[in-house]
Amino acid sequence: MKENYLGVEVSSYSYSQLTDQIIEDINKDRKSFIVAINPEKVLKAEKDKDLLQLLNKATYQIPDGVGILIASKFRNGNINERITGIDMLMTLCKTASENGKNVFLYGAKPGVAEQAKQNLEAKLPNLSIVGVIDGYEKDQESIKRQINDANPDIIFVALGSPAQEYWILNNMEQLNVNIFQGVGGSFDVLSGNIKRAPAFFRKFGLEWFYRLIKEPFRIKRQLKLPLFLLKVIFSKK
Ligand code: UDP
Repeated sequence: MKENYLGVEVSSYSYSQLTDQIIEDINKDRKSFIVAINPEKVLKAEKDKDLLQLLNKATYQIPDGVGILIASKFRNGNINERITGIDMLMTLCKTASENGKNVFLYGAKPGVAEQAKQNLEAKLPNLSIVGVIDGYEKDQESIKRQINDANPDIIFVALGSPAQEYWILNNMEQLNVNIFQGVGGSFDVLSGNIKRAPAFFRKFGLEWFYRLIKEPFRIKRQLKLPLFLLKVIFSKK
């Protein structure tokens, strides 16, 4: 269930296949690691072998970004649904609340994860969020202790990429947690500090366009998309 773009593996699971897998992972006490893949990360990994290895070590690489979908179309692949980090987080929280699983939030500026927790609990009253730690806490031993004491099934890590992915890989064996997901700036969005694009833009895959109007400096990041597609078209792999 994986496709490969410029060396980076991407899972072709749908949301429901992923959530089924993840609940099974928890019930069978397996550890899994979810990472969001977009064209920018793939291009970075082309130049950074450590990052490439790290991304390929994840259990589930979710296709976050229309670029991956277009690339999959070119290759006659099976990825036809975009799975963003934040939507995966929401889906997992909903699944967790329905299956009696606990979650933990780690990352973002002080106060942000706490606010995100309150907003998530307001949306999903049965969700059990067993702890939060901000992403600027320095004492790694205390962080690990707090997480293990809270004993969550799922942890969302919002330290930015690739710091959060390195953190997950370096700590997952020492933590009593089954599911690890790197979620970038998601807590900022969930806390209400940053607004997502209106539904209209999201529905038509134009979130990038909305963000470009709001933050024109993103153009440099966004030009990576056509570059990525050209490379995929001309690469054999
Ligand atoms: N962050 C953090 N600790 C740090 C650096 C960053 O918790 O030492 C948080 C930051 O507050 C923000 C998130 O990491 O909430 C990064 O968000 P961004 O949108 O930059 O994520 P990316 O684009 O890297 O996925």
